[in-house]
Amino acid sequence: MIKVKCSFCRNEIEKSTGKMYVKADGKIFYFCSGRCEKNMLKLKRKPRETKWTQEYQDIKKGSGVK
Ligand SMILES: [Zn+2]
Repeated sequence: MIKVKCSFCRNEIEKSTGKMYVKADGKIFYFCSGRCEKNMLKLKRKPRETKWTQEYQDIKKGSGVK
């Protein structure tokens, strides 16, 4: 099984079960669910500002300091 990470929430997904989205500029996004797809493409939310994503949790843990 090939695993990829959801471009929004960073969950691991199996390539065959997730959704793939190719932007006009050739960038490829993978989404684990319609929820992630909608947040990124329609609502244009940023993962780091969206509480339920892995990226937000990582930033919170590190107190935003790199
Ligand atoms: Zn996701």
